[in-house]
Amino acid sequence: MQYPEPIAKLIDSYTKLPGIGIKTATRLAFYTIDMQEEDVTHFAQSLISAKRDLKFCSICGNLTEEDPCSICQDETRDPSVVLVVEEVKDLMALENTNEFRGRYHVLHGVLSPLAGKGPDDINIDTLVQRLQKNEEIQEVIVGTNANAEGEATAMYLSRLLKPAGIKVSRLATGLAVGSDIDYADEITLIKSVEGRTQM
Ligand SMILES: [Zn+2]
Repeated sequence: MQYPEPIAKLIDSYTKLPGIGIKTATRLAFYTIDMQEEDVTHFAQSLISAKRDLKFCSICGNLTEEDPCSICQDETRDPSVVLVVEEVKDLMALENTNEFRGRYHVLHGVLSPLAGKGPDDINIDTLVQRLQKNEEIQEVIVGTNANAEGEATAMYLSRLLKPAGIKVSRLATGLAVGSDIDYADEITLIKSVEGRTQM
């Protein structure tokens, strides 16, 4: 027996999410039908609003409702240091420590020759433009994850930026090899910024 079209469509939508197979999608779809109508409406509105009202900051690549984002607009932050991270969730993890008072740059990925990802496929161009335009920036801290791709990206950025007279440093190795920034605890993150090493 085929499912009625509305539920078939809902199952299909859920399968588009990462890690959700047909079985889980079916379970979620039936769960959704059992939910209170106002909860379902709220859920649907959050989905639409997250997509419609959020954009990437044209300066740093952070997710934001206003462009530039609140961090780029914050005059009290140190404009001389830019911490480069892979994803917005890494920025959030570092920001939650309330320790780092410089600015950020989100790459939206890492260099990955195996996955066919080169410098043009991640947000490096805007970082270079930012450094060319903004003489206040003196140091770039590379906060990519401590795995092979993160290290390769850090090396690439170091070679690219150092000839331009920018100090390039790497988050300290308090972060275990292979660990992800967004899973690290706050103390480890704070220490890794404080103990950063020059590249
Ligand atoms: Zn920004």
